[in-house]
Amino acid sequence: MIRLGAMRVFSDTYFETSDRPVRLRLCDHPACGQAGDFRAPKSRDHLNDYYYFCLDHVRDYNKAWDFFSGLSPDEVEAYTRDATVWERPSWPLGSAGAYERSLRDKAMRDIFGDASGEEKPSPAPPMSVIERDALATLELVPPVDFAAIKAQYRVLVKKHHPDLRGNDSENEEKFKDISQAFATLRKIYVADEG
Ligand SMILES: [Zn+2]
Repeated sequence: MIRLGAMRVFSDTYFETSDRPVRLRLCDHPACGQAGDFRAPKSRDHLNDYYYFCLDHVRDYNKAWDFFSGLSPDEVEAYTRDATVWERPSWPLGSAGAYERSLRDKAMRDIFGDASGEEKPSPAPPMSVIERDALATLELVPPVDFAAIKAQYRVLVKKHHPDLRGNDSENEEKFKDISQAFATLRKIYVADEG
């Protein structure tokens, strides 16, 4: 059985701006805005294709992975109907058959959402000026959920990254604004970060 341990990722995770470190790589959990410093394969059939998670979520992911590996197909199916994978505290180990694996991988996709997943817009109104401004800075129109904010942030960070744009003070301002807007939205959208 392949154990999918948390692997610390050192390269290109952080870079410095004049203000403070900005995390380029974010946790792939849709509701999380932490840095994605740990990687985990997306499926047993694609071990070189990774999710990037914060420590908490890579732990959860590894537990979920192990958990589904130990279940029969019926059990996996029953379990995914509940879809409360992230809350479960402990998971049995076992070996996985092809069908189980496909179900498990589907369950993982359901948890993380892919193109086929249903998007739930966040319950927005009433929206503060701060939130609206921050969304506008990220060129977003509400209602959006945190996953969408994060996806857009990634796009903009790459586009305006000072290492790519050289000494362009206007761009640096824009880059700072984007970082600030994301930090603001993270506080608003990710409840347990206060
Ligand atoms: Zn996370």
